[in-house]
Amino acid sequence: MKNKQEILDVLQNYFGFDDFRPGQEETINALLEGKDTLSILPTGAGKSLLYQLPAYLLSGTILIVSPLISLMQDQVDRLHRQGEKRVIMLSGQLVGKERASVLRNLKSFKFIFTSPEMLDNQQVLTALKKNKIALMVIDEAHCISQWGPDFRPEYLLLKEVRQQLGSPTTLLLTATATPRIRQDILKKMGMATAYQVIKSVDRPNIFLAVKSIATQKEKDGELLKLVQKFTGPGIIYFASRKLASQMAEWLENQTDLNVAAYHAGVAPIERFRIQNQFMNNELQVICATSAFGMGIDKNDIRYVIHYHLPSNLENYLQEIGRAGRDGKQSLAVLLYANGDEMIQRQLTSVDVPPVTVLEQIKNGELSASVLGEQASLFEFYLEHSFTPQQIITMFERRKIQTEKELQEMVAYIKENGCKREYLLTYFGEQFDGSNEFCCDYELSDWATKLILPVSQPLSENNKVGWEDRLKALLNITES
Ligand code: ADP
Ligand code: MG
Repeated sequence: MKNKQEILDVLQNYFGFDDFRPGQEETINALLEGKDTLSILPTGAGKSLLYQLPAYLLSGTILIVSPLISLMQDQVDRLHRQGEKRVIMLSGQLVGKERASVLRNLKSFKFIFTSPEMLDNQQVLTALKKNKIALMVIDEAHCISQWGPDFRPEYLLLKEVRQQLGSPTTLLLTATATPRIRQDILKKMGMATAYQVIKSVDRPNIFLAVKSIATQKEKDGELLKLVQKFTGPGIIYFASRKLASQMAEWLENQTDLNVAAYHAGVAPIERFRIQNQFMNNELQVICATSAFGMGIDKNDIRYVIHYHLPSNLENYLQEIGRAGRDGKQSLAVLLYANGDEMIQRQLTSVDVPPVTVLEQIKNGELSASVLGEQASLFEFYLEHSFTPQQIITMFERRKIQTEKELQEMVAYIKENGCKREYLLTYFGEQFDGSNEFCCDYELSDWATKLILPVSQPLSENNKVGWEDRLKALLNITES
C-alpha cells in the first residue's frame, strides 16, 4: 500500500502538478490496491494521468489499448516530452526485423500502446504473455459498446485477451457512458464487480442551443450568420465528407475567415497542414466529419456547430466536449431541419442478410463479398465461432437499440424544457439547475447574448512543434 505522500511526490516530480483533479486520486488509489476500475471522467479531465502515475509505483509494464494511431502517437509524444523514453507503439506499421526485435525486448518498455486488432495477433499476444503486465488500460472504452458499420469487433476479444494475460488489474476509461452502456462495457469485459469512479459528464461552460430550421437552404444562411457572429476557433460537423468540403469552400468565399475541410477523404499531408494551422489559430473554422476530433488537444475551441445531428447523445457529448476545455464560455449549437434523422438512419444502418446466406458463407458455398461493404464485419463473427442465427439475433437487437438512441437524440432536439437537464438525465445524473447560462430554454436571443472570448494567433515561440505534428502525420495513414 502506497501512502498519500508517496503518490503526491510522484505527481509533483514526474508530472509537475500540485493537486489531483476530481476523480484522479480515487481512481489511482483503487488501481494501486489492485482493483479493476471503470473511470468515467469528462473530456479534458486528465484521464491519461490515471495510468501514467501508477506506472511509477508499480513494477511491470502498462499496456494501453487505444482505438486510433493518432491518439496513441499523441500519448507517446506527451510521454517523451515528460522525459519518459521507455515507450513503444505496437501497430501494424511495425514490421519485419524491427517488429521481431521489439517483441523480443518488450521488457525494456514501461508503456506499451496498442490496438485491439494487434492483440488479435497470436505472435503479439505470446510476446506480451512473457511480460508482467502491471496494468491493462482500455482507453475510449465506450468503443466496446459501439455499433454500426464502423464498429471494430476486435473490441469484443479484449475480455479473452485480458484473461490470457493473467487478468491483470484493468482500467477502463471513457468520457461518456450512460448507465446502460456502463453495464454493457463491464459485461463484455467480464468485469461486473469493477470499482467505478464516475464524475458528471456536464460541461457547465458550454451553452447548449438547438435551432430548428425549415429548409436546407435556410440552414446554410443560419450557419453563415452564426459563423460570422462567433469568434473562432470553431468546428462544424457534417454527416458527409462531400458536404463538409463544399461548405468549407462556401464559407471561405462568403466570409473573411480561413476555413478548411477535414475528413478521411482529405490527403494525410493536407490533414497535417490543417491540424497545424488550426492549432496555431491560423485557421478559424474546420468543417469536419466525426473523423476529426479525438486526439485534438486544443483547449480554446469556442464553438461546435452540428449541421447534421449525430447518431446518438453519446457522440453528441463527445463532439461538443471538444469546445471550451480552457473552462471559458463556449457554445454548442445544433441546426435541425425536419427529417434530418433520415441521414443518420442511413449512415448507421446495417443490412442484415438472411440466415441462409450466412450459412452458405460459413460452409464456403458463397463468397462473403456478396455482403458488400459489411462483409468483413460478418466474416469476423463467423470466424470467431458465432452461429449464423446468433449473429442475426445480435444484429437485429442492435438495430432496435440504434433506432432508440436516434430517437433519444431527436427528443433532445425537440425538448422544449432545459436541454442540459435532458442530457444529464439521459446519462443517469441529476441537474440542480444551478447553471446561470445554461441552454436556449426561454432565451430566444441567446445568439446575441452569448459573448465568446477571442483567441489570438499564437506567437512564434508558442506554436505547436512541427516535429511532433509530422511524427503524428506519418502515423495517421494507417487505421
Ligand atoms: P482526457 O484524456 O481526460 O481528455 P488528458 O489526459 O488528455 O485528458 O489531460 C488533459 C490535460 O489536463 C493535459 O494537458 C494534462 O496534462 C492536464 N492534467 C491532467 N491532470 C492534471 C492535474 N492533476 N493538474 C493539472 N493538469 C492536469
Ligand atoms: Mg484521453
